[in-house]
Amino acid sequence: MLTFKELRGNNIFGAIVFVLIALLIVAAVLIKNRTPVENRPYKEFMAAVEQGRVEEVILTEDALFKYRLSGQTSFVTTDNPHRDSLKEELLLRGINVSEGSLVTGKNAVSTGLSALFFVAVLVFVYRTANRSQTKPAMALSMADQAQSSVHYLKFDDIAGNEEAKEQVTDIVDFIKNPEKYERYGARMPHGVIFYGPPGTGKTLMAKAIAGEADSPFYAVSGSDFVQMYVGVGAGRIRELFQKARENKKAVIFIDEIDAMGKKRASGAHDSNDEREQTLNALLSEMSGFSSGDGIIVIAATNRLDTIDEALLRPGRFDRQVEIGLPDYNARKEILSLHMKNKPLGDNVDLEALAKQTVYFSGAMLENLLNEAAINAARRCESVTAKAKIAPDDIDKAYYTVVAGSEKKDRSNIKQREREITAYHESGHALAAKILSPENTVAKVTIIPSARGAGGFCVNIPPDKMYYTKQEIESQIMINFAGRVSEELIFGEDKITTGASNDIEKCVSLATDYINKFAMGKSFLREGQDSKKQISELLESMYERTKDLLRENMGIINKIAEQLLAKESLNEDEIDRIIELEKKAA
Ligand code: ATP
Repeated sequence: MLTFKELRGNNIFGAIVFVLIALLIVAAVLIKNRTPVENRPYKEFMAAVEQGRVEEVILTEDALFKYRLSGQTSFVTTDNPHRDSLKEELLLRGINVSEGSLVTGKNAVSTGLSALFFVAVLVFVYRTANRSQTKPAMALSMADQAQSSVHYLKFDDIAGNEEAKEQVTDIVDFIKNPEKYERYGARMPHGVIFYGPPGTGKTLMAKAIAGEADSPFYAVSGSDFVQMYVGVGAGRIRELFQKARENKKAVIFIDEIDAMGKKRASGAHDSNDEREQTLNALLSEMSGFSSGDGIIVIAATNRLDTIDEALLRPGRFDRQVEIGLPDYNARKEILSLHMKNKPLGDNVDLEALAKQTVYFSGAMLENLLNEAAINAARRCESVTAKAKIAPDDIDKAYYTVVAGSEKKDRSNIKQREREITAYHESGHALAAKILSPENTVAKVTIIPSARGAGGFCVNIPPDKMYYTKQEIESQIMINFAGRVSEELIFGEDKITTGASNDIEKCVSLATDYINKFAMGKSFLREGQDSKKQISELLESMYERTKDLLRENMGIINKIAEQLLAKESLNEDEIDRIIELEKKAA
């Protein structure tokens, strides 16, 4: 539901209200003029005629006509007998007779003028109110808003994403030089869709294309068009394209295109006129580009599979470019790029950080370094040459980005709960170290996060295209290891709710193992048989995890002991504990 405030900000609503009020005023004025205050009996009129007191009469086709007595300025009305001889009779008596309507010419002019005056006042009031609204974005047209985000980004401001850059270089050339492509009869895509996880640099890439082509950049979001009145979204689209066409070259960027161009559920009758009109307006504007114009529409989405097929047809968004999560080299480049304006301590190892940040998007990496810089600034009282970002600042920032900020007040956490967390996390760390030595166990901690996690173990698999059956089994066991450790140490009846997330992951991995990857006993992917296979797989993995932890109980105890003393351990510290325990055994 829209609030009245939102409605006020909506141009079409304002326009409708404005026209209605103007019409009401005009109608009111007209009615006022049509209904003079006095209506006299016909008998009285005739008596005045007899007495020679009537100076002017306006005969009409209406039920009433008007007359004015000598010496008076205003007219009064009386019933119209519709008598053919009346006009002659009056003329013979020397009375000034004319034919018209109840509104005299003079009155009509004054009526029109007063209506115009009111309309003018209303326009003035409406515009002033609109201008003074607290939400200036609403007062601005969408095209104006969009262009206000001017940029000077270039491809060099994007680290990694090499394949995506490669796929859009001809687009930059086309925007700069559309005639060249026209001469060769080449049909350039009118639209490009960037798809990939959040924060991977889709907006950045669109801005860089505009920057490289030195063209205006218009950015809107698909969600801006949601919940508008029918026709408003379409109007805004037309306005936006009109503006772009005036420039001859432009990049129009539509973020969150799925809000506007989402697939409709099959068989559903969810006709959404507003959304459809907006979408149709977009498609028809795109097909209306002349080949000599260097205009390109770039849309972005996190999920290409949710986009309506109609949008992906040739001549529409027919080039789809994936912008994925950065690999190790790209992460190193992104970290270096965002480190440029930050004083980094010599002992910070960016390569190690790049290794620890598998699955981080560019935005997360930028956020991590920003948090680290904030930590350093907070820590250092004054700016000196020594005040640099230290490994510890990065460590804290890593924690914040992965789990949210640390819970500062830990005074009410009971010793028993700390022990449960310590053994739970030790189980995960040990299983990860033994089952997947190529994984990075970046950090184990029993510091709870403000988001509610009791502690965590960061276990990062290497960047890979494929995972083996054995690797998925290991992943299930690593996830089970927290619960198994609790059970072995505290007893079967003392297991806790702390493992709920881990169990969810185990079930999901096992389901994919059987149903998606067909790694079970049969290829049947659904039905009772598949359920049975998933359940058997989970049970056998749980038992294997128990065996693994029983064999390494000495290491588990040592890691837990160290966690209780220091709260957090990094990979080197865990490696050392394992090495020492193995030697001692
Ligand atoms: P969303 O899908 O959430 O809209 P997005 O894919 O459009 O996200 P951007 O808004 O372009 O992501 O990226 C957010 C920020 O992350 C950028 O401003 C930049 O600081 C950083 N970033 C992301 N990817 C890169 C990259 N490849 N190189 C440098 N910085 C990057």
